[in-house]
Amino acid sequence: MYPSLVLKSGRDRSVNNRHPWIFSGGVKQLPKAENGDIVEVLDNQGNRLAYGFYSPQSQIICRLFEFSSLPIDFSQPDYWHQKIQSAYEIRKKYVLTAQTNCCRLLHAEGDFLPGVIADLYDDLVVLQLLIKGSEKIAPHIIGGLQKIGVRYIYLKNKHNPGFREEVVLENGFLTSNTLQDSKVVLENGVKFAIDFEKGQKTGFFLDQRDNRALLQNYSQGKKVLNAFSYTGGFSIYALAGGASEVHSVDISKDAVQLADENSTLNFGKDVIHKAIAEDCFEYLKNTQEEYDVIVLDPPAFAKNAKAVPNASRGYKELNLKGIKKIKPGGILFTFSCSQNIDRDLFRKIIFSAAADAHRNVRILHQLTQPLDHPVNIFHPEGEYLKGLVLQVE
Ligand code: SAH
Repeated sequence: MYPSLVLKSGRDRSVNNRHPWIFSGGVKQLPKAENGDIVEVLDNQGNRLAYGFYSPQSQIICRLFEFSSLPIDFSQPDYWHQKIQSAYEIRKKYVLTAQTNCCRLLHAEGDFLPGVIADLYDDLVVLQLLIKGSEKIAPHIIGGLQKIGVRYIYLKNKHNPGFREEVVLENGFLTSNTLQDSKVVLENGVKFAIDFEKGQKTGFFLDQRDNRALLQNYSQGKKVLNAFSYTGGFSIYALAGGASEVHSVDISKDAVQLADENSTLNFGKDVIHKAIAEDCFEYLKNTQEEYDVIVLDPPAFAKNAKAVPNASRGYKELNLKGIKKIKPGGILFTFSCSQNIDRDLFRKIIFSAAADAHRNVRILHQLTQPLDHPVNIFHPEGEYLKGLVLQVE
């Protein structure tokens, strides 16, 4: 039996609709439980609706992972192993091939496992346990990953000062098998060195795989700028697609250095790749270069709802600067990964940048996150990546 969290009358609707979050304002009676404990969720009449991880200090006071009125014993490893197996099956069927051995394996709420992110790099998983509840089930997660054949598991948590979840596990290997160096993976046949220890997030941005493959088709003979390049994801695909020249710009020296190494890893020293460590706003303002194709993939400018107006101005300024550097008839790949800026707003922002640039613009593609970053249909908040491919006359 698990401690009970009782909802206020009328607050069971979202749970009946399988939304995985319970906000503290909807709770009539708190459970006698500690941070990270599994609790059962009851409606005002005492009917059991779901189970979740309790987060007493968070506004999202409970994150649900099971919608059932039945008694369930979550100390059974099989329960968790099955969740991991079912997420793995989808990736095995639709993503992993002889050409691609990396993908996101567990995408938190998108895979009905709140607080768990697992990125697969060949036989290595880089794991993030973002809430106390997911930390408490770590042994089951590790067991489940090993069961599907993962050899190395590296924990890479964010330890933000003041972060209320009190996740205490230290970053490092959770398996007795360890790796020294960075890991080289294959994505659509191109190679990337992943610095899982010091790199950003889990070491690589797996969510742009499909969009990078699309860029490859637009690159033959083109001069390409990859702005906010990180370790050169889009750049390497552009080179693979026959670009005549590629410039990667990122504010992080380590990232652009790895972009250069990735270019050499795939194409040798002679290739025309230039890595530039600079602020992209400054670069776009000052450069005399013009490009056939530009990619703009900045970090999330709006980390919360309050930041949306400022972030919108940032996206507009960036896109206006980008459009100005596109040769007539050229192509812009532009993205936002701010969850708080929805698809419609993003399109309006780009509209206003295009209007200020006084150029004709066509939308050729509307892009999103790939299937290994699935959106739980009951949790639209999980949709975060938006992109537009524009032809600029
Ligand atoms: N497109 C990349 C991922 C980009 S992540 C890929 O496919 O792998 C965002 C990147 O923006 C990070 O590498 C970060 O270092 C960089 N960044 C953040 N602010 C920046 C700025 N003002 N100018 C240039 N780069 C910046």
